[in-house]
Formats: sequence, C-alpha cells, structure tokens
Amino acid sequence: MRILICSSALFFLLNSCIQKTKVDLLVYNATIYTVDSSFSIAEAMAVNNGKIVETGKTSGLQSKYSAKEALDAQAKFIYPGFIDAHAHFVGYGQSLYTVDLYDSKSIQEVVQRVKSFDSTHPDEPWILGRGWDQNKFPGKAFPTNEMLNELFPGKPVLLERVDGHASVANDKALQLAGVKAGDKIQGGEIETKNGKLTGILIDNAVDLVVARVPPQTPAKLKAALIEAQKNCFAVGLTTIDDCGLSYTVVSFIDSLQKTGDLKMRIYAMLSDATANYDYAFQKARLNDSVGRGKIKTDLLHVCGFKVYADGALGSRGACLLEPYSDKPGWAGFLLSSRQHLDSVAKIIYDHGWQMCTHAIGDSGNRTMLTIYGKYLKGKNDLRWRIEHVQVINENDFKLFGEYDIIPSVQPTHATSDMYWAGDRLGAGRVKGAYAFKQLLDQNGWIPLGTDFPVEDISPFKTFYAAVVRKDAKGWPANGFQTQNALTREEALRGMTIWAAKANFEENEKGSLEKGKFADFVILDEDLMKEVPEKLLDVKVMKTFVGGQMVYERK
Ligand SMILES: [Zn+2]
Repeated sequence: MRILICSSALFFLLNSCIQKTKVDLLVYNATIYTVDSSFSIAEAMAVNNGKIVETGKTSGLQSKYSAKEALDAQAKFIYPGFIDAHAHFVGYGQSLYTVDLYDSKSIQEVVQRVKSFDSTHPDEPWILGRGWDQNKFPGKAFPTNEMLNELFPGKPVLLERVDGHASVANDKALQLAGVKAGDKIQGGEIETKNGKLTGILIDNAVDLVVARVPPQTPAKLKAALIEAQKNCFAVGLTTIDDCGLSYTVVSFIDSLQKTGDLKMRIYAMLSDATANYDYAFQKARLNDSVGRGKIKTDLLHVCGFKVYADGALGSRGACLLEPYSDKPGWAGFLLSSRQHLDSVAKIIYDHGWQMCTHAIGDSGNRTMLTIYGKYLKGKNDLRWRIEHVQVINENDFKLFGEYDIIPSVQPTHATSDMYWAGDRLGAGRVKGAYAFKQLLDQNGWIPLGTDFPVEDISPFKTFYAAVVRKDAKGWPANGFQTQNALTREEALRGMTIWAAKANFEENEKGSLEKGKFADFVILDEDLMKEVPEKLLDVKVMKTFVGGQMVYERK
C-alpha cells in the first residue's frame, strides 16, 4: 500500500514535469532584440493566439512549451516589427499605379516616362505621376508644361513633385480645373510668367486640379493597397502611420482588414476637413452609424488629426522666420491662417484627440509650438505631435520638452535634402535643421518614419540615415551634421517602441515582451553590429504579424 501511494505520487510528479504548455509557435536559436526597457536579448520566444507568451533561453522554453509549429531561426536576428511613424500608405499604393518619376534627371526624361506610361495605359482618362525633383535637373529650375501641352493637347496630365507640395499640370488639366493666368489662392501659388501659366502649382493650388481627378474605383484602390502591403511586409514593416486620410478611406481600410485582405496594422490620422471632424465628433449631426469617435481594433487605430502648417523646403513653401538664403525677400507661407490652425487645435483639444501637424520651416514650427502651448499649457500626456520638425530656431527646442510635444522625424529627409538644404537656409540656420539628437534630448524619446512615398519605404534606409547620416554612396565622408546622429539603440527604439508610443500603443507593440502582439522580423544580419557600409544590404528573411508569417524571402 505504501509503495503504491509512493509510485502514484511519483507518477503525478513526473507527469506534471513533462506536461508542457501548448502554444502556437516557438521560435528558437535566435538573437532576439526584445527592445524592452533594459534592451535585453533573448534566444527564444513562445507565441500563442497572436501574442507573446514568454521570451527566454532556447533550452528553457523548449522544455516548458510544446508548440504546434517550431521555428529554428538558424542563429539569425529578430527585432520587433518595424513601425513607420509617418507615411502615406494609401498614397504609396496609388503611386504604384501612376507614372514613376523618381530620380528623373531632366524634364525630357520626365516627359519620356509619361509617354511610355501613356502607351501602356491608353485608357486612363488622366495621366498622373509623382516623384520629379528639379534639384536633380540641369539648372535646378522648376519645369514648365510646354512639352506636355504639345504631346497631350486633349488629355489632362498632373505630375507631382517628390515632396507632394508642388505639381506641374498641362493646359488641359488647368483648363478642366478652371485655373487662369494671374489667379491667386491662399496658402498656394499659381505660377504665371509673361502673362501665361507655366503649369507649376504650389501647395493649395495643386488641390484645384486634384479636385478634378476622377476618384479611384474601390476595386482599383483595393488592388493598390494589397500591392502596397506586400512591398511593406517585404521590408519588415508591421505598423504604418498613415498621415491624413478621409474617413471614407479609413472605413474602406477597416473593411479590407475585416475581410482579411489587409493584415497591415494602420494608425490612421484623419485629415483637416469638416467632414472628418463631423465624422469624429458629431455623431448626432451626421445622423447615421458612421460617426463613431475614436476607432480601436487590433489592426486599426484612429484617434488623431493631421493638419498642415506649411509646405516643404525643396519647393520653398516651408514658412521661415527670415527669407530663404537662395530667394531674397521670400520666406514661404503658412498653408492656412493662424486663426484656422488655432481653431482646429481647440476643437481637437476639447475632444481629447491627438493633433499631428506638418511643420517644416522654423516659422511654421514656432507657430505650431505656440498654438500647442496655448492649449497644452504644461506637462501632459496628450502626445500632440509635430511632423517633420525640419528647421527649428535655437530658442524653440526647449518648447518640445516644456509641453511634452513629440517631434516626429524622418531621417532620410536629412540625407535627401543635405545637398541643397544649406543653399536654402544658409550656414547658420542649417545647424538647427534635421537636429534629431537635440530633439530626442527634449523628451527622451523620438518616433522615426520615412514619409513614403516621398522617400523609399525601407526602414533600413531610416536606420542608416539616422545613425550614419550619409547617402548610399558614403557621402559626405564625415557624415552630415553628425552631432545630430542617433545611436543604433536610439534609432531602433525610434522605429519600434517610440513609434508605438507616439501612437499610444506602447503597451501592445513596439517590443517583444509578454502580452504584446507577436509582430517581428527575422533579419540575415545584426543591425546592431553590422559595419555601416553594409547596413543597407541587411535583408528581411521573414516578417510576422500577430504570430502569422506574412512574408518570406525566396
Ligand atoms: Zn507626410
């Protein structure tokens, strides 16, 4: 009898030892940068129901868990899925179906690309393109529409500059939009020379023509978003902040996520338009079911507005305190009145939403810092953001810390603009431009993004630009204003946990810790140790969203 009790106790003990916890996935034999608060490194990770159950040693987790699927990472490197804190996911998807004008070296090349697009897409009622940059043309002057008028007298053509803040339109497009020589518009410019339209439109003037472009069909938009998602998963992105969408497009994204067509997590900011404020705040007035306030699903989060203060430096639309160094008497402009910016800050503040404002020039930034300060008053956790924060007057840096204002920056803008930023700003003022380290020091954290399709979608380019501050060819040899470079750990945090924090999502993503979404990437090399010259060659082997593989390198 005694022996019997003993052996059954032993059996129970043994059984409880070998009884493993069942999980969906066990990843092992990896170097896992968890990006937790102590930046700890693990070897293995157990995942169940899309979330992380535990991280630790391979031996420990293997003896504790039995997994439906075990993944040997073959000593490769795992990071939290990358978050792009400022991008235009929908715009990027749409750009995949328009003329690609990136890196064209002359207006002749632009026209050539438009011609070949037209020959392969003869049924398109409009020809839309994006990506030209006059800084890459001989003479660096804005193009005119003469050649486009000759080639396409009956078909409207609208070609956006790389930054989306200027466009060249042919006469047919201008005529459809009712734009005439000498017309004026607030927050924009319609270029007229010798009494004739040149086709160049800046900022709000572009919208006059955009309003005439027929809307994309839902089927086409769906195809564009799925194509965009595929490319973004391939570079390791698992969350994208889309900065400025209409509520109708947000609803469309929601529907594609619900059917499983879109697995990308989206943090969507609504754009500054009456219909969007009604949608967000005034359910009763809309008198239907769509006005539903903040939106939070596992894949979609909406709790902020995107507003524009000024334009961009490349097209000299950024609003500066003093005139441009390469255009005397011209200091750029605000895209809307100070009164408008103040009134939207008030309505956003009163409803407890997040305000995210595009500000590039030192005057645009000072305007927004002052308006934000008026409502935020002091320390707070509303996480109001300024997007781009490119040129800051030395007296204004401290305001970010005083009011807990988040500078949301794009490191590749620094390395794309460094060739001519000094011409626009002059040697003194450029020191306060792209000052990421100085901005990081204000609050102790900073989210990073790309602003794609203005820049490439690749987070590796963001990492390289933030840390090395050189172009892909290694220029300049000593880096561009490297006193404002970030460390590798800071750059990685900016692309993961700090980006999550800018979206109020730091408790669910941005690091690989118990209870968080199992969004992660497996890379072939170690971002934290790879030599600078090879950082741009690091490749994504696999991307996971919620424990599900969404990309595998072939
Ligand atoms: Zn943007």
